[in-house]
Amino acid sequence: MAPAARTPTAIIPSIRALEGAGFAVRRPFPTGAVDHYGPFLLLDEMGPADNAPGEAKGAPDHPHRGFETVTYLLDGEIEHADSVGNRGVIHPGEVQWMTAGAGIVHSELPTDKILRNGGRVHGFQLWVNLPMSAKMHRPRYQDLTKDRIPVVDIDGGQAVVIAGEAYDTQGAAETFLPITYVHVSLRPGVSTELDAPGDQVAFLYIFGGEANILPSQQAVVEGDSVFFDAEPGALVFEAGPSGVDMLVGIAEPLNEPVVRYGPFVMNTKAEIYKAFDDYNAGLMGSIEPERA
Ligand code: MN
Repeated sequence: MAPAARTPTAIIPSIRALEGAGFAVRRPFPTGAVDHYGPFLLLDEMGPADNAPGEAKGAPDHPHRGFETVTYLLDGEIEHADSVGNRGVIHPGEVQWMTAGAGIVHSELPTDKILRNGGRVHGFQLWVNLPMSAKMHRPRYQDLTKDRIPVVDIDGGQAVVIAGEAYDTQGAAETFLPITYVHVSLRPGVSTELDAPGDQVAFLYIFGGEANILPSQQAVVEGDSVFFDAEPGALVFEAGPSGVDMLVGIAEPLNEPVVRYGPFVMNTKAEIYKAFDDYNAGLMGSIEPERA
């Protein structure tokens, strides 16, 4: 017999915040209610913003240490450069999975094209914690172009499987911990069931439309996050009258202390101070100017 569907532990609306040089995000977590959930440290939805020419903003040079940033873009273009010498553009449907590890300095900016012409920017950044043993891993990138990310037709919708396994499909990203990250779209009234291992926590973030969590029949709308503790049972939900778009994260909880300050997430306060010292001493490097 299949285990029952999970009942949400909490349903929490996102907050609005400004990031980087002042672009608007909707932030499911961290909020006053949820600091982090398992290894999931932060989720920001950038936009959707329809920028006039000259209006688009990004995040100029800043450091990270101790975790991974996962950028998934639906609309627009983000130009990325870092202290390890990488430089490139993230396009719609693509994912950049960056392991900051021991430390990196990077910039995430609108491309010249978006700046000049304006245009819609819509995307997500998820921060994934690293286990203590991997916090000082050398920085690495996974540039997951569209051809590498499986898009699966499911009953009444589709699923973009970024990491882990969902709907019998293996996602593209390599992760340090077992992590599943999926974008699920369902047409109105369609229901779906996502398997989740009983020892893993899960969240849903609804960014379009609305849904009913089954069997508890809890209604959730755009901007809500749903959190599920680790327990046996699938994640089961039904799209509302305008369909639903959501991000789903499933992962083993990381039972290690989380000490975070701004762009650094470590296990102790001393490690946070060390991160600031190392950054200020230039040990995380800097971004070389682009060659003409
Ligand atoms: Mn960043």
